[in-house]
Amino acid sequence: MIAEKMVGFVENNSAIRMMFEEGKRLSKLYGAENVYDFSLGNPNVPAPCAVDNAIKDILDSEDSSYVHGYMSNAGYEDVRRTIADSLNRRFGTDFTDRNLIMTVGAAGGLNVIFRALLNPGDEVITFAPYFLEYRAYVGNFDGVLVEVPPNIPSFLPNLKELEKRITPRTKCVLINNPNNPTGVVYPENIIRELTAIIERKSFEFNTDIYLISDEPYRELVYDGVNVPYLTKYYANTVVGYSFSKSLSLPGERIGYIAVPNEMKDFDTVVSALTIANRILGYVNAPSLIQRAVARAIDSKTDVGYYDRNRKLLYSTLKNLGFDIVKPEGAFYLFVKSPVEDEKIFCDMAKEENIIMVPGSSFACPGYVRLAYCVSYETIERSIPAWNRLMEKLKKGNLNLK
Ligand code: PLP
Repeated sequence: MIAEKMVGFVENNSAIRMMFEEGKRLSKLYGAENVYDFSLGNPNVPAPCAVDNAIKDILDSEDSSYVHGYMSNAGYEDVRRTIADSLNRRFGTDFTDRNLIMTVGAAGGLNVIFRALLNPGDEVITFAPYFLEYRAYVGNFDGVLVEVPPNIPSFLPNLKELEKRITPRTKCVLINNPNNPTGVVYPENIIRELTAIIERKSFEFNTDIYLISDEPYRELVYDGVNVPYLTKYYANTVVGYSFSKSLSLPGERIGYIAVPNEMKDFDTVVSALTIANRILGYVNAPSLIQRAVARAIDSKTDVGYYDRNRKLLYSTLKNLGFDIVKPEGAFYLFVKSPVEDEKIFCDMAKEENIIMVPGSSFACPGYVRLAYCVSYETIERSIPAWNRLMEKLKKGNLNLK
């Protein structure tokens, strides 16, 4: 018999994955070009050539037992130094290799962070809508995820509601900026207010509250929007970064955690994170791709590609009358469902071969998420299907909102 904790996971296997499987099934039936699958955040812009070239060059020129060998559990020192230098140049931080721990993507990084910080019953506060895996990651270490309800329509963090939820049991506040699923970017004034609240509350309760910043979409921003670097605003910040989206390498499983020098008990926290990386069984982040991302650290994905998609999908749906949060980052559109139950709306869209994910998969029913990391042509081809869907919505005897 499997572990009791796993039963729920097995029964409610990720809706996003289920929609993705549904997309594959419909593609077999109708042909891939006739299915408009906006379900999965799998980057479709290829990784920059610099990454593939780096891998080839590393294999040709570096010592094989070094490249494929174990290293420090935090990752290769020179890799961490290269990333630290890049962050210092970009964000004015003062990092060295000691501030960084290479991880198995953002998912691995978050598990390492929660392993290192949480005692059973400790609370982690996050803002709905959020990446639902957070609940599992916190639960892995018997922590309790506390939700702040969605702040509709801006989807910026609701700071009043945050303040009410901070208790002596609060160990972490977890934010995701730019945000999945809304594409909203939290600006500096919100970050300042948020960190001031956490500061005040940790003083009031005499507790250490950690601010966890999950940042896989940091590089995917549009119109020159600035994403504040959080270690500058709050000392007890842990940044979780990933190359999955920024360099289109989700299958390679590579990212890092950054901890600022101002962190209380810096050495102990960094040791705990490093040991957590080992004892969770990751041991260290994959070696070859660590070396490759260091060589390609100045490469960028083609954000212009996603921007074109964003503009086309946003304007198409807006012109049809859909109510949408204007996304400034990531590659998602969060659309208000025109029918009360967004799952019904998803089913109606599926009849037109449009696949999207219900907002309840992000703790925000009444909305749906569209991932526009697809080809531009897919969006163009989907336009008649969106038109038909809107016609159906207008004709149907539905509880239109
Ligand atoms: N956090 C958020 C908000 C995500 O959207 C994702 C993946 O989609 C992850 C974490 C996990 O990213 P990774 O592939 O780096 O583990």
